[in-house]
Amino acid sequence: MLSIKNLSAAISDKEILLGITLDFEPGKTYVVLGPNGSGKSTLAATIMGRPDIAVTDASELAWNGENLKALSADKRARLGIFLSFQSPLPIPGVSVEELLRCALDGEKDLVALHKELRGFAKEIGLDEEFLSRSIHDGFSGGERKKVEAIQAAALAPSLAIFDEIDTGTDTDAVKRIAEFLSAHLPQEATKIFITHSPKLIELLRPDSVVILKEGRVVAEGGRDLAVKTIKEGFEGIK
Ligand code: ADP
Ligand code: MG
Repeated sequence: MLSIKNLSAAISDKEILLGITLDFEPGKTYVVLGPNGSGKSTLAATIMGRPDIAVTDASELAWNGENLKALSADKRARLGIFLSFQSPLPIPGVSVEELLRCALDGEKDLVALHKELRGFAKEIGLDEEFLSRSIHDGFSGGERKKVEAIQAAALAPSLAIFDEIDTGTDTDAVKRIAEFLSAHLPQEATKIFITHSPKLIELLRPDSVVILKEGRVVAEGGRDLAVKTIKEGFEGIK
């Protein structure tokens, strides 16, 4: 379980998260919503351990009882925490397959991984040549997001966070990504989706919805809260 208590965080002395308390349970799907600039991406990056985010001493951030604050991002990844970025950066010279081979070194047979990735590409509707191209280098928005989803499936994380996996994708791609992730993410994984896409929310059928505003949690509820908020906007939520 991911347990967040009184989490406050700042970037370059600008306070962005202001005392967030939330629990994310195994096997459940969460949707996080909030106006632009409310701190959703910062929350995701803080959980993952982005080094330029300063977390206050009073904050608690624990994964299955282990204090994440003491661990660097790579160590958090080794614990099974995965973050798909809102705007993934290209890494020229490193292919998707090479990246996953390094990450899964000793855990998966390389031939089996190669076969699995080809199967994933076919299933999500991506030409398999993308697996050998430099990651995200010249990829379209939709192609980037599909590659992010393939990485999540291959890594089989126990905590998977998707920061706007739908941005830049067309309706068909959103459907394919949602179906792909539902089929391939481990059942027992904790899944957190930051999204405003009604289509994605409908397909994901989240157990719980969290609304952030100005660095604070302002509402928590079920799927109906997401539907209502998307329809009526964030204005009415204090
Ligand atoms: P959201 O994902 O909800 O749109 P973000 O977490 O990206 O919001 O940003 C929250 C706030 O933090 C915004 O006001 C943004 O300008 C600010 N912020 C994000 N990154 C930085 C940074 N590197 N330096 C200064 N401010 C930042
Ligand atoms: Mg964001």
